[in-house]
Amino acid sequence: MADAICDICGKAVPVHESFIVRIDVFADPNLPPISGEGSANLDTSESMAELLEQMKSMSADDLQDGVHRRFEHRLCAKCQRAFMANPLGLPRQRKSGMN
Ligand SMILES: [Zn+2]
Repeated sequence: MADAICDICGKAVPVHESFIVRIDVFADPNLPPISGEGSANLDTSESMAELLEQMKSMSADDLQDGVHRRFEHRLCAKCQRAFMANPLGLPRQRKSGMN
């Protein structure tokens, strides 16, 4: 019987005792509200310019983040429990200068 390797601790575990963690990361498909009802009578030139400014400031990195990414990992039972307790691995980052 083939063993699976835990992607976190590296331990070999029987396949039937392993867990698969699948993470999909993708942009919400909802479109931003361009013009809402009720605001038709308002002068929208200002908010329009604001929107264009936001789009201009979108970098290549932002666009790259919009690509669908899928991560798949195999975990042993112990690491699966740890993962379930904190799926996002928080705190992801510490703010510098907190002291
Ligand atoms: Zn493990």
